Amino acid sequence: MSITLYNTMTRSKDPLEPLNAPRVSLYTCGPTVYNYAHIGNLRTYVFEDILKRALLYCGYEPNHVMNVTDVGHLVSDGDEGEDKMALGAQREDKTVWEIAQFYWDAFRKDIERLNIIEPDVWCRATDHIEDQINQVRILEEKGFTYTIDDGVYFDTSRLSDYGKLARLDIAGLRAGARIEVTEGKRNYTDFALWKLSGADSKRLMEWPSPWGVGFPGWHLECSTMAMKYLGEHLDIHCGGIDHIAVHHTNEIAQAESSIGHEWTKCWMHGEFLTMAKSDDSDGGKMSKSAGEFLTMDVLVDKHGYDPIAYRYFLLGAHYRQQLAFSWEGMDAAASALGRIKRTILEARAGYTGAEEPIAACMDEFDASVIDDLNMPRALAAMWKTAKTPDASAGEIYATLLQMDRVLGLGFEDMAPGDAGISDEEIDKLIDDRAEARAAKDYARGDEIRDRLAENRVEIMDSPDGTTWRRI
Ligand code: AMP
Ligand code: ZN
Repeated sequence: MSITLYNTMTRSKDPLEPLNAPRVSLYTCGPTVYNYAHIGNLRTYVFEDILKRALLYCGYEPNHVMNVTDVGHLVSDGDEGEDKMALGAQREDKTVWEIAQFYWDAFRKDIERLNIIEPDVWCRATDHIEDQINQVRILEEKGFTYTIDDGVYFDTSRLSDYGKLARLDIAGLRAGARIEVTEGKRNYTDFALWKLSGADSKRLMEWPSPWGVGFPGWHLECSTMAMKYLGEHLDIHCGGIDHIAVHHTNEIAQAESSIGHEWTKCWMHGEFLTMAKSDDSDGGKMSKSAGEFLTMDVLVDKHGYDPIAYRYFLLGAHYRQQLAFSWEGMDAAASALGRIKRTILEARAGYTGAEEPIAACMDEFDASVIDDLNMPRALAAMWKTAKTPDASAGEIYATLLQMDRVLGLGFEDMAPGDAGISDEEIDKLIDDRAEARAAKDYARGDEIRDRLAENRVEIMDSPDGTTWRRI
């Protein structure tokens, strides 16, 4: 099956044409391991997982590389600010290496809980310092760099197409540029390839280089490692939309200046998760640097959600649409997930192993997947399947299982207890509670109420009896 994907470079949905089909080289920018990933970051990784599953579903063989930024790049997208890794180490009184290992482990636990398939290759920036130095050397030999007191910089004015991904208005940018903080930088858009530690400052992470002791610029690790593991022609490169204007723009500048031809065919970017306005949020951007942020641990351990409910919540919006996080939205996702899981368990009971997926449902689902990963439409096809009037339970199960290869909601591995409590069980518990209360056994009555609450069922008592709703 061929698939159409939105390419930020062309600003259009283009059919995927991998250079060496069925293999697809795929590079996704990974986490900076100085803190937990927030649920906004994780939205980007879920989008990339859907992409990868869709490629597998369509018969491609993705070779997926993800970096781990464990070197202290700087707080801002530019070259100023403090070192994130050093800030983490200071905050927790640990070494930068301990911080990196701890948060990388935490990241892997998060993606496992979200049923994200691990990359084929993980690559850590600190394991590739020599490769990065070599890249700077190549760029220097080709005349794309200049060296100032602060480090080695990329001269963006040497490229006529610098900023093509973001369609940057270079002239406008230069005219409106604020005073440069880095003395000696020639153009507003120039960026550091190698930063020097400086004679009298010892950094926590630094390495010798032909230009002096220092550390690589952030953009350098991705283009260097992507080319090392996937070669000079990359089929797909992904990240969040915030990467377009600076990080990916600079990756392109480095890679294409070094190899002398177009590097990545298709650039894909996931839109942001924002915070909905609520009692405890004034809405807007979700960020780590601002202090308070939501993590998987907060959703799962503090609020009791199934991590897959968050995955379901994310599938409800197309990856190129902004999505506002809200607790109401999470509750709705958790309850929808419970419903589809109950359908699965019922359907599974009637499955013999011989049934085929329902063709009409699969056609609709496939059309959604290959149309730039339209997951809201794919979910609609999933719900339609669950309600197909004359299909057998086994056919419904076979269909949902096939769809789950892309959705990744874990239908196959579901155990009976996973679906939560059924409507019949709720009715039965409410009857038991009424009996307990009639017998003045209030402790038992409260116990049942708590059990229902744990299963996200709220009960309302009134003179006419007890009603309930899933929350
Ligand atoms: P970082 O660790 O800051 O480099 O971010 C990891 C990934 O998350 C990158 O691909 C970012 O583009 C992405 N990202 C950052 N903030 C958000 C957000 N609020 N929503 C979705 N993705 C985000
Ligand atoms: Zn990157």
